Amino acid sequence: PEISLPQLLNESIKKYPNHTAMTFFQKTYSYDQLMESVKKVAASLYNLGISKGDRVAIMLPNCPQYPISYYAALMCGATIVQINPMYKSSELLHVLNDTETEVIIALDKTIPLIEAIQQQTSLQTIIDVSFENDCKFNELLADRQLHVPDIQIDPKEDIAVLQYTGGTTGRSKGAMLTHYNLVANTLQSAATSKVKTDEGEERILAISPLFHVYGMTSAMNLNFHIGGNLILVPKFEVEQVAQIIEQSKPTIFPGVPTMYNALLNYYKEHHFDLSVLKTCISGSAPLPVEMLNSFNELSGTTVAEGYGLSEASPVTHRNPIAGLQKAGSIGIPIPNTDAKIVDSATGEESVPIGEVGELVVKGPQIMKGYWGMPEETQQVLKDGWLYTGDLARMDEDGFFYIVGRKKELIIASGYNVYPIEVEDVLYTHPGILEAAVIGVPDKYRGETIKAVIVCKENASLTEEEVIAHCRNKLAAYKVPRIVEFTDELPKTAVGKILKRALKEEANM
Ligand code: ATP
Repeated sequence: PEISLPQLLNESIKKYPNHTAMTFFQKTYSYDQLMESVKKVAASLYNLGISKGDRVAIMLPNCPQYPISYYAALMCGATIVQINPMYKSSELLHVLNDTETEVIIALDKTIPLIEAIQQQTSLQTIIDVSFENDCKFNELLADRQLHVPDIQIDPKEDIAVLQYTGGTTGRSKGAMLTHYNLVANTLQSAATSKVKTDEGEERILAISPLFHVYGMTSAMNLNFHIGGNLILVPKFEVEQVAQIIEQSKPTIFPGVPTMYNALLNYYKEHHFDLSVLKTCISGSAPLPVEMLNSFNELSGTTVAEGYGLSEASPVTHRNPIAGLQKAGSIGIPIPNTDAKIVDSATGEESVPIGEVGELVVKGPQIMKGYWGMPEETQQVLKDGWLYTGDLARMDEDGFFYIVGRKKELIIASGYNVYPIEVEDVLYTHPGILEAAVIGVPDKYRGETIKAVIVCKENASLTEEEVIAHCRNKLAAYKVPRIVEFTDELPKTAVGKILKRALKEEANM
């Protein structure tokens, strides 16, 4: 339906006024309390001069102030600029200046960083958030003058969120997501998450950062739409997360592969009840089949892999929660979504079933374009189809398989090698905790295959052993020629392995 995000929240406030809307360690908020806070902050932002189309940046970890700021700014008709609180000054400058943001809501710890660059930006107001001390955010909440703005929002036109892409492959771009895009994807996610919409009994574990599109839609917006309890966790620390799972018994977990891997390895040593997580979703990066199978086997629950990208609000595909699931597949298009695989060189004709090409998608969740980048927008949006930059194939049942990113495809001696396939094999080795495969320049082969590996505690492995393991399971041209061991792999804020950093290191 063509409604705005604040209207979507309002429906839940009416339906579930006394349900718990969110939990942050010991503190809980009912839907009524959430709305009261949202209105107070909206009134204060309005008094500060925020009006339709103005940009309000939120630079916070997962905490109650996040959804409050988000819905308050939207109520004023503003556009949210999502900012990773771990950003360093150059990244922050890029986003603030790109969007000409005037107001930022940020954690006290990051204020010195923001103040240091304020002069080089359009920032007028910095609202600090503190968990321990007095702060400007609490003053907004204490304001008694409630002039709640009544702003008309055009859901199809007005940009709710500027979502900067993860920057896994290059400079990050601001995807313009309208209210319509985000409401649509929230409803699509609800339809595929097997949620008990009328009872409002679900509890969603929000560890994936809300400043990333995946946590924003699949945890926060979904939760408030279904009348659930959003269990906010600011940081992924496996021991603490295991405790939260035991105590709060979340029913829905939108996680990423590195989280499932960490939980799985922790579970093997310290048993705890994972079966409460009835709807486990994995997205944002490939979930190695071995990891999926062992998680399912040990936890008593099943992980449904899905797929999405910032430009699609983000979800476009998912394995059905109840019904046929296929390991290694991202599932089928979610309701109201079309998908096809086209020739990756021409971008035009569809390729036959089973053949690899570029995945293109269409639906109400597809962005309006990139902020201030008409040429880049034209390159990825054609006749309503979004060119994802991902290489994929479809099987005869209509299930899709991502084989890799166009940009990460390795061409070794003229052969195409997809890193995921090699990584899947590496994960079947019992001594390997994490693995990433990249292409590095090679005089003779053009590119050659390099594996970067983190061993499990107490496991020791040699380069020869890793190569021998791969030789048993892969054609010779896919076998890594170089194996490097490391203690830790670089990761993005959501926990994706940052291949760009590994490549840069290899090229140095
Ligand atoms: P940038 O576009 O700036 O390089 P990014 O692609 O990481 O960054 P996101 O929008 O966060 O930005 O991520 C979307 C990408 O994540 C997809 O294009 C795809 O490559 C990858 N992805 C998401 N889900 C899956 C999945 N289930 N399997 C494989 N890849 C996935």
